[in-house]
Amino acid sequence: MRVLVIGAGIGGLCLAQGLRRAGIDVRVYEREEGIHARYQGFRIGIGGPGLEALRECLPQRLHPLLEASTGELSGERLVVDEQLCEIRRLGVLHGGMATDRHVLRHLLLAGLTDRIEFGKRLVRYTELPDGTVRAEFADGTSATGDLLVGADGGNSPVRRQLLPEAEVVALDGRGLLGRTPLTERFADLVPGFGTVVAGPEVRMLLGKMEFRRPPHLAAAELAPDVELPETGSYVRWVAFLPEYIDAVPADWPAARDLLLSGIADWHPDLVELVRRSDVVNSSGLTVRYAEPVPHWGTRPVTLLGDAVHIMPPSGGMGANTAFRDAALLCRALTAVHRGEAQLLTAVERYEREMLEYGFAAVAESLAQLPAFAPAASA
Ligand SMILES: Cc1cc2nc3c(=O)[nH]c(=O)nc-3n(C[C@H](O)[C@H](O)[C@H](O)COP(=O)(O)OP(=O)(O)OC[C@H]3O[C@@H](n4cnc5c(N)ncnc54)[C@H](O)[C@@H]3O)c2cc1C
Repeated sequence: MRVLVIGAGIGGLCLAQGLRRAGIDVRVYEREEGIHARYQGFRIGIGGPGLEALRECLPQRLHPLLEASTGELSGERLVVDEQLCEIRRLGVLHGGMATDRHVLRHLLLAGLTDRIEFGKRLVRYTELPDGTVRAEFADGTSATGDLLVGADGGNSPVRRQLLPEAEVVALDGRGLLGRTPLTERFADLVPGFGTVVAGPEVRMLLGKMEFRRPPHLAAAELAPDVELPETGSYVRWVAFLPEYIDAVPADWPAARDLLLSGIADWHPDLVELVRRSDVVNSSGLTVRYAEPVPHWGTRPVTLLGDAVHIMPPSGGMGANTAFRDAALLCRALTAVHRGEAQLLTAVERYEREMLEYGFAAVAESLAQLPAFAPAASA
């Protein structure tokens, strides 16, 4: 059995790790030219079933490196005003571990270099008469397998072909996703799990990505064959511009300056936090979510992660759910590989279960959106 995974995001790579571990022939095709091709470095909280699923797919020998290259994600959630005066406490949360998407993606690539091809943008797939499926890429090449998994994110071309009616809604949130190197001055802004700054017109959410150890040094010691990027700890922040601003400029310095003009009289530490944001790792943020889809007739093509159930980041569940999908699908395909199940029956079972918890997570994230982005939900 050969499995074609479209997309080397964290969900697709997690699945590939699990399949490789199970001895299944897996190939991953990624549209980008390499792992460094675009902005990737934001903090992702992983815990509960998502973390268990990630550990299930990742080889045992990499578990210590996963632990060492992440950070603490627990403590009080504070709400403060724009002068940093405490308004209230939302309670202590134990959120599992804080990971950086870019670091995690490097870790998930470990041992897969012979299974992954970059620069392969899927344009369509074709189901063949013998039951297999052919992936067709923009460069004119193709690949054939027994199952094609669309792990190709929120704009998934696989979903658009498989489920043309499926709808993804983009909220007009005027969001900014910033990243500022963590210094002593900024460390106290986030004493616990996270801090909400409830200003009069602008709301900011602050989270800290403080690596237990520099990821590249942890890799050199714990798994020298794995290359993790040299990256420093940072404060990740999300801000929503006031409603009278029509759109977030695509250019980061212009977007940052627009935000600065709206918070000029805020506490100097907050102004400085925005001023010192890292141009390469900051961007506009569009909040999107998928409308629920009913189960479709199972074919040798399926979906995983944001490709099927993209959700707002408000619940901190998108990546966790993608890992859960990866582990569930991996278990289903392992049973097929062992001759214990038929391919389409196993895939259908995966799809039905995934749709249920996946869209429950979308609904839960949407319910939490007002606290995360009040302007976006107005
Ligand atoms: C600000 C922010 C904070 C978040 N915080 C959290 C959090 O705390 N906890 C949490 O669980 N989740 C969080 N999430 C959500 C999480 O990041 C996503 O759910 C997760 O990255 C989805 O993974 P994925 O593999 O499904 O998709 P992606 O990571 O989007 O990967 C898709 C891949 O497919 C590739 N691709 C696309 N089209 C093609 C094509 N045609 N051919 C080949 N390849 C293609 C893309 O280049 C990409 O590499 C957050 C998201 C944001 C934006």
